[in-house]
Amino acid sequence: MVVGHVLRNIAIIAAAVVFGWYAARRWRIGGTPEPRPASREYLAGLNYLVQDQPDRALEAFLRAVEADQDTVEMHLAMGALYRRRGEIDRAIRVHQNLISREELDPRQREQATYALSQDYFRAGLHDRAEKLLQPLSEGGTYRLAALKDLIRLYELQRDWSHAMEVGQALARIGRPNSEHEVAHYACEIIGAALASQQWEVAREQLKSAKAELKRFPRAALLRADLAVHDGEPLEAMEWLRRGLEQQPDLAPEVLPRVRRAVAAGGDAALALEWLNKAQPSVRTHVVQAALLGDYLDLPLLRELTRVHLLERPGIGEVLRAVLPEGGTLGDTQLDAVCAALRKQARKNARYRCQQCGFSTTTFFWQCPGCKTWDGLKPLAEVDVLLPAPRAQEDT
Ligand SMILES: [Zn+2]
Repeated sequence: MVVGHVLRNIAIIAAAVVFGWYAARRWRIGGTPEPRPASREYLAGLNYLVQDQPDRALEAFLRAVEADQDTVEMHLAMGALYRRRGEIDRAIRVHQNLISREELDPRQREQATYALSQDYFRAGLHDRAEKLLQPLSEGGTYRLAALKDLIRLYELQRDWSHAMEVGQALARIGRPNSEHEVAHYACEIIGAALASQQWEVAREQLKSAKAELKRFPRAALLRADLAVHDGEPLEAMEWLRRGLEQQPDLAPEVLPRVRRAVAAGGDAALALEWLNKAQPSVRTHVVQAALLGDYLDLPLLRELTRVHLLERPGIGEVLRAVLPEGGTLGDTQLDAVCAALRKQARKNARYRCQQCGFSTTTFFWQCPGCKTWDGLKPLAEVDVLLPAPRAQEDT
């Protein structure tokens, strides 16, 4: 509330300054002896500002601008103010009027067109925004801004093919992280094709985006899905191993696929053997995912979890205190401890975005809060099990 109030006042003061500068310039040049209606409104606006009546002040400044129809800059400033106030219909009218003027030079026309695209975007009129942004994205002052807006628009519409094209254009002009986003768009297309059993579409996309998807962990998971469908569970296991080694925090996404590959005839003991030699950080991610996702029916994961629990600070000390000297957890005890930990963990968020702090119980490749790809990371085990921030999606 306080921040909104301050921002609104800043906008009003900015309008006052812009209009005041312009008015002073015009009246000095024109030498008009009597104050024009616009200047009277401007003075009234300043008076309201002094009396701490910001809403009335803003109304007066906007009327001052409306009374002065001659300048492009003032129309643009007025349109931007209307948009900022949420009066999108008015902003659209101002910018449409501006674009209809024949005397605009190319730079002004480009500026007004971009401003109108922002109005349409804000109003949710995405098709109209897209039509204005497309030519702007081909070159000129607003090229980068228009490309970024188009990406945002296609992501909102989940139009991944167009998002890929725009992402590739952004990568060509060197925008950081664009190649990473393009790889995710390709994975969205492949994932949708697999979900709707369009196996050839998925295969084709994997082939055409080969360069983008090289050493991309999400693509390894999708290749594993395709391999299971093709009756190649061992190949699937190999893809899952690669994905996990490339990005250990994907363990919660990998383990359900391991189970599917095992069900399709893969040898889990053989396929998971490499975990014994994997980095401790990889094993920790896998064990936490196995514990919280209940994958203890896979023997190696059961054994790793048993060892991990006893070595863990806190609960490991408690367990060792109640077990006989040198004893370990029996199967029944292990299941009971894991069930209790799962019950506790269910109350808390499991993922948090490293960019914006959005927390959630469900995994998303793109953070719903700030739209960063790969922003969500599993919380450390202790954060999941001890009272942690509740998932934002639940509140
Ligand atoms: Zn985020």
